[in-house]
Amino acid sequence: MDYEKTDILIIGGGVAGLSCAIGLKNESNLKIVLLEKYNEFGSKIKGEIVNQKSEIFKKIFNNKFPVNIRNVIFKTAKYYTPTTKKFAIRKFPFDTKIGIEYRKLIDELVKVLTQSDVDIRINSEVIELIEKNDKFIGVKYKDSNGIKEIYSKIIVCAAGIDFLSLCNRFTTPPKNICPAIKLNAENVDIPDPSQLEFFLLEIPSIIYLFPKSKTKAEIGIILWSDQVKNNEKFNLHEILMEQINSHQILKKRLANAKFIYYNKEKLPLGGPLKNLYFPNIFFIGDIAGHVGAIGGSGIVSSMSIGYYLGVYLKDLFNIKKDFTDNDFIKCQKLINKLNITKWLKTEASNAKVMRNILYSTYPNKNFIDDIWDKFKYFIESRGP
Ligand SMILES: Cc1cc2nc3c(=O)[nH]c(=O)nc-3n(C[C@H](O)[C@H](O)[C@H](O)COP(=O)(O)OP(=O)(O)OC[C@H]3O[C@@H](n4cnc5c(N)ncnc54)[C@H](O)[C@@H]3O)c2cc1C
Repeated sequence: MDYEKTDILIIGGGVAGLSCAIGLKNESNLKIVLLEKYNEFGSKIKGEIVNQKSEIFKKIFNNKFPVNIRNVIFKTAKYYTPTTKKFAIRKFPFDTKIGIEYRKLIDELVKVLTQSDVDIRINSEVIELIEKNDKFIGVKYKDSNGIKEIYSKIIVCAAGIDFLSLCNRFTTPPKNICPAIKLNAENVDIPDPSQLEFFLLEIPSIIYLFPKSKTKAEIGIILWSDQVKNNEKFNLHEILMEQINSHQILKKRLANAKFIYYNKEKLPLGGPLKNLYFPNIFFIGDIAGHVGAIGGSGIVSSMSIGYYLGVYLKDLFNIKKDFTDNDFIKCQKLINKLNITKWLKTEASNAKVMRNILYSTYPNKNFIDDIWDKFKYFIESRGP
């Protein structure tokens, strides 16, 4: 079997892995390899809303937000109760929340990387982590020429939630992994494209409708697994389709909609993992719970944490040749001290409180209406 050696190996070419590679690049003389399973980066489109004022865009894109990825600027988000009798409106600070084209963002990240000597390989699926003396020392991966091994001084795993099936044994997985479905649609009837809409359902779940224009939108549903009682089973696809056909407001918006993209997903909404490092592997992005539990925000969080881990590792490799666990644990501490990590923790606990209040008595359809006047303060007073 072919094998090779590298300094740093990144598994996964989503926003977390690509940003980590960007943090590592530049005059470091390090051998860096990034392996992506599919034949293109960002093949699975997930969230498409970001805060364009986030620092990470300036860091990665030379102080300029890549305007070609932007479609709509949002002014407000409207949240409806299950009966739609009540709602709350959250206002966004001017020019912050925007809709993006996910694939274009990925293209921009890849463009930054192609000016570097990071060795990025598509069609390269990691099928096994190689372990020796309680340390991860490399991976087995499959490409069009067969199975290969690659050994690395440090591995960064940014392979998303599905990769847990390959490493569950070694790590405490992120908590509250929630199933989700995302659709992109055309022929949608959107009265106000500057408004995001959220529809709470009777069961612990939420449907969102994010406009891309007056006639195009992203629609998704998330089931809040932590609120589901007695191992009740829900078929998310059926629930979404039923709501599209019968919900008072969704029915109007989507009466003539043509669905052009469908993605079954999972979202870790239990907060960031504290232990991101296990000898000698780091976990970042979705697989480490780097998702804002209230409003998605996984793109900015995964990009930020990925990028800074890259920078910290580059600094470490610039001053040392041999490493101990302590060196890597220091990097983990730096990540845990980042404002974005602290924010992710707060988001997770606030989100849990909100979900607990809303769904404490489900399936009592009117309960949310009854408490809404007190509850809507939570939504309307939230920052960016
Ligand atoms: C329905 C939904 C809506 C969302 N909405 C938003 C939103 O509006 N705003 C927002 O900021 N965030 C949103 N998010 C969250 C956000 O999309 C994610 O948090 C973010 O994309 C995570 O990036 P990642 O790089 O960690 O993982 P991923 O994007 O999952 O990337 C992982 C990469 O690893 C690759 N990979 C997997 N297995 C292997 C393997 N064995 N070998 C090699 N490569 C592998 C995959 O192909 C993929 O390219 C949403 C998520 C969902 C599910």
